[in-house]
Amino acid sequence: MSTSWAGFLGTAVVVIAYMPQVLHLVKNQCSAGISLKAYAMWLVSSFLLLAHAFGLNDPVFIALQGYQLGATTTIVIFAQKYKNSSCALHAGSNPAPSGLGEASN
Ligand SMILES: [Zn+2]
Repeated sequence: MSTSWAGFLGTAVVVIAYMPQVLHLVKNQCSAGISLKAYAMWLVSSFLLLAHAFGLNDPVFIALQGYQLGATTTIVIFAQKYKNSSCALHAGSNPAPSGLGEASN
């Protein structure tokens, strides 16, 4: 029995999960809570895992890592661009953690 449906459903959840972070960063020009180092590492891992997914010729893995690569690239570019910028909601809060962990918004 193929479990591809579960993989594509999981990929859809990943797409939905990234949306609030990406939209807040791009629309509000706010990088609060984003660890640039952590996302840069996820970007590198997405690239490597996408190469492996193509090697396996696995459609679910390719879709997941293709999306991850796009999302992490977008986040790294805009988090760098709006490095010291935060929206009215996050103004006064620590704009970015210094460690590798992901802070909550
Ligand atoms: Zn904000």
